[in-house]
Amino acid sequence: MKILVLNCGSSSVKYKVYEVDGVNQELASGMVERIGTKNADLKCSCCFAHDPRCAARMFGEPGKLDVPDHRAAVNMICDLLKSDHCTAVKGIDDIAGIGHRVVHGGEEFAESVLIDDEVIEGIERCARLAPLHNPPALLGIRACAEIFSGKPQVAVFDTAFHRSIPEKAYRYGIPDVLYRQHGIRKYGFHGTSHRYASHEAAKLLKKPIEHTRIVSCHLGNGSSITAVQGGKSIDTTMGLTPLAGVIMGTRPGDLDPFIPLFMIKEMKMSVQEVDEALNKRSGFEGICNHHDVREIEELARAGDEDCQLALDMFAYRAARFIGGTVMALSGCDAIVFTAGIGQNDPYMRARILKYATHMGIKIDPERNSRNERMITTDDSEVPVFVIPANEELVIARDTAAIVGVRSKKPAVA
Ligand code: ADP
Repeated sequence: MKILVLNCGSSSVKYKVYEVDGVNQELASGMVERIGTKNADLKCSCCFAHDPRCAARMFGEPGKLDVPDHRAAVNMICDLLKSDHCTAVKGIDDIAGIGHRVVHGGEEFAESVLIDDEVIEGIERCARLAPLHNPPALLGIRACAEIFSGKPQVAVFDTAFHRSIPEKAYRYGIPDVLYRQHGIRKYGFHGTSHRYASHEAAKLLKKPIEHTRIVSCHLGNGSSITAVQGGKSIDTTMGLTPLAGVIMGTRPGDLDPFIPLFMIKEMKMSVQEVDEALNKRSGFEGICNHHDVREIEELARAGDEDCQLALDMFAYRAARFIGGTVMALSGCDAIVFTAGIGQNDPYMRARILKYATHMGIKIDPERNSRNERMITTDDSEVPVFVIPANEELVIARDTAAIVGVRSKKPAVA
C-alpha cells in the first residue's frame, strides 16, 4: 500500500512516499520551500532518480518558482507524482491515503485519526495552542481534500503519544481555573519520534516494549526528553508549548516563569517582542549568536568562549533532565538518542553521558564515533542506543493501518 506523508510548515511542505506493506520502503521524498513567494524552491529526490532535474523541467528553475500558497505547493507535488518521470507511483490512484503530521492535538486526540469535518474542527480548536503549527497543517489537509478528492486522509499528532502522562506530571502548580477553563497543562511534543525511538530500543533490548523503561532523547533544533514506561509516555520535558525543557536552537527551555513578566514590566517590551525573543532569539542563538550545533562546535574548537558556554549549558541541562527522567521511571533499561544532534553528534553524546558515569554507563568511544546502534561497552550497566529519527515512517504506518481498516469495512448500503 502506497502512502503519501505530508509535513506542512508555515512556509514549507515536506513530503515522502512509502510502500508500507511488509517492506516499509521509502520511494520518494522532497520539499517545497519559501511558499508564499516568487522565489520558492522545489527539491525532489523522487524515485531517487536517474534524472534529478525532472522537477526543474516541469516547473522551472528551483529558487525562482511562484508558489503563492500551500494549495499550489501540494498541487506541484501532485503533478510530480503524476508525471511519467515518477517511478515511485503509477499515477495518483496508486496512492491509498495521505498522512499528515499535525503538531497539536490538545486533549481531544489521543491517537491518529481518519480526517473528517469533525476532526478538522478539532484541529482548528487546538490551533490556539499551536498558532504557528496547526494552521499550515490545516491548509495542507484542505488542499489535499480538493486535489486528491476522495482520498482518505489521516492526522498523526505530535502530542498524542503523551496523552498517557498522568495528571501529577501534566498539571502545573497554577490556579486550577487555568487548566479547567483554558487547558493550560503539559502536552508534550515530538511524540511520534519518541514513540518510534522507544519501540526500536525495545527491539534492540530484545524485550517486549511492555516490560521496558526507556529514556528517549530527541535532540535536534527542537529538543525534548521523554520517560517511556511500557511503551507509554509518562513524562516529557516540553510543556504547553515546545519552548519548555532543554535549551534549543532558538528557544530557551525551562525558565523562571517571572522572566517574561520582567521583560514586559521592567524592560517595557511588548508581548510580541517577548514572544519573538523567546521563540527566535533564545537558546543557542541567544547565548552565542548561532543556532546550528555543527557551526557552534566548530567555533568552540577555534576558541569562541560563548560557543563553548552554549555547548556546556546544553550538555549540562540535557544531563539534568535525563537524571530526572530516570527518577520518573524508577530506573531505566536504555537511553536512546535521536534527531539531528542525538543521532549524529558523538561529541555531544559523550559530553552529556559523562554526567552518567555514576550509573555505570560506559561509552565505547569507537562505537560512539561511528554512530553505531549501541554506543556503550558490552558491560555498561545501561545500554545507550542511537536511533535515526523516522517520524514519517510512523505517520505512513498509522495512515496505512487506518486506511486499511477503512477499506475492509463493508460498504454502507
Ligand atoms: P529539526 O528539529 O529542525 O528537525 P534536526 O533534528 O534536523 O532539527 O536537528 C538539527 C540540529 O542537528 C542542528 O543544530 C544541526 O547542527 C545538528 N546536527 C546535524 N548533524 C550534526 C552533526 N553531524 N554533528 C553535530 N550536530 C549536527
